[in-house]
Amino acid sequence: MAERITGHTELIGLIAYPIRHSSSPAMHNEAFAKLGLDYAYLAFEVGNEELEDTIKGFRAMKVRGSNVSMPNKTVVHKYLDKVSEAAELCGAVNTIVNDNGVLTGHITDGIGYMEALKDAGINIIGKKMTIVGAGGAATAIEIQAALDGVKEISIFNRKDEFYARAEKTVKDINEKTNCKATLYDLTDLDKLKEEIKDSYIFTNATGMGMKPLEGQTYIPDPSFLRPDLIVVDVVYSPRETALLKMAKEVGCKTMNGLGMMLFQGAAAFKLFTGKDMPIEHMKKVLDIKY
Ligand code: NAD
Repeated sequence: MAERITGHTELIGLIAYPIRHSSSPAMHNEAFAKLGLDYAYLAFEVGNEELEDTIKGFRAMKVRGSNVSMPNKTVVHKYLDKVSEAAELCGAVNTIVNDNGVLTGHITDGIGYMEALKDAGINIIGKKMTIVGAGGAATAIEIQAALDGVKEISIFNRKDEFYARAEKTVKDINEKTNCKATLYDLTDLDKLKEEIKDSYIFTNATGMGMKPLEGQTYIPDPSFLRPDLIVVDVVYSPRETALLKMAKEVGCKTMNGLGMMLFQGAAAFKLFTGKDMPIEHMKKVLDIKY
């Protein structure tokens, strides 16, 4: 690092609270070093109260860009000049790019999901997906899948504080894309089984399966799945959730959340640098298997 940082090195930030646990600095700095790019990526512990000043500081210092995580993802758009269509529909920004003083907000989580599928040789364009979730990760996936050309999306969520967000997502998808979206209550397990039955892919985009819900799934038994169904879990810790374990036993092709995490970073990296992240190198260095 001492050899790498010079007077020309450009800064890319990550603003969230808490953030010290994040693997993004390691991922981006490794990729910069591998490609010989003159950037440094640093995490800043910033919450909503310091957010406006932070963005002003980024502008003043001509910082190239920043990633954004909670609690700032849904608030930061107020301080930017523009947001992408997906970020607008998601109501969230996870990447800011500064092009000569013009700050644009993007969301790369959904792109990460779609690219990870492509990388695994899975094509869901023109097909039907059933997905559980209405939070940040789920909304980004649902919106991006619809924008990219997935034909039909059946969304399930329990009737908690996220349900209204799913209602908005369904309305936006049906009004603004060619995809047909429908929302169901997750307590209707007969309906869930029926919707999964003619789906090409099933995705869990909730925290189910991860601490404190580790070892649990809302899928009651393996009869909900079939060998030619693709099953994705956005959870990456643990790498194999109870859902993925059941899906593997049934014989489904499965994918955990590590691919989405890697490719959302790669999409941000491309926006910051204009270069492709060296994916195979990153998989090796970060021990990413999905
Ligand atoms: P969030 O808080 O925005 O949303 C939580 C979602 O989980 C909601 O849909 C909520 O209804 C649902 N939920 C919570 N408890 C539940 C339960 N007991 N039963 C059924 N549903 C329940 O969270 P988020 O940011 O969308 O994250 C969700 C998961 O996605 C987390 O496990 C997170 O680690 C993972 N994630 C992965 C990536 C990736 O790159 N792979 C990116 C973001 C988030």
